[in-house]
Amino acid sequence: MFNLVLFGPPGSGKGTQSITIASTYHLQHISTGDLLRDEVERQTALGVEAKKYMDQGLLVPDEVVIGMISSKIDESQDARGFIFDGFPRTKAQAEALDKLLEFKNTKIDLVLALDVPEAELIKRLVGRGASSGRSDDNEEVITKRIKEYHSKTEPVANYYDAHDKLERVKGDHSIEDTFKLLARHIEKYLLPA
Ligand code: AMP
Repeated sequence: MFNLVLFGPPGSGKGTQSITIASTYHLQHISTGDLLRDEVERQTALGVEAKKYMDQGLLVPDEVVIGMISSKIDESQDARGFIFDGFPRTKAQAEALDKLLEFKNTKIDLVLALDVPEAELIKRLVGRGASSGRSDDNEEVITKRIKEYHSKTEPVANYYDAHDKLERVKGDHSIEDTFKLLARHIEKYLLPA
């Protein structure tokens, strides 16, 4: 198995790149943002609870997200590997993920962190807000999401760096050129399927 975390602030292109990576290398794509939005849409108990945080640009509590990831990993028995998008976002989530994967006799192999200047992130997210219909893509909530990223999520990069798994990639090129940079790292581990 090959397991990859695509890491980066909101608007860094994780979602877009994850879709291409998942199809190129036949990895199972797990996006906690997409899973949460699906729960919100279906108005499940988890979705109703999560929406309170999402609408304010705050992280959903760890135990909610970890439980969701755990069942998703269990459902994907014959995956070639996973690409985690938007998860882990706290050190507690990173530690829980290590335990879940260890239980499956596997591990995180590589963490690719997309670096994009803050002004570019805000420009992209505000632009996306015009078409995405996402209630958290407005300027006030965007600022809070980026603040939440700096305080809670950025330390996760140090966690993986300490385990020698982190590679930083500049994410302010075109979508295609950024993909090429990411692919160069991935192909040290596996080739397109
Ligand atoms: P995203 O689509 O990844 O930008 O996520 C949208 C929102 O969902 C975030 O602003 C959080 O409120 C919530 N969310 C997504 N993933 C996580 C996570 N791993 N931990 C906590 N909250 C999350």
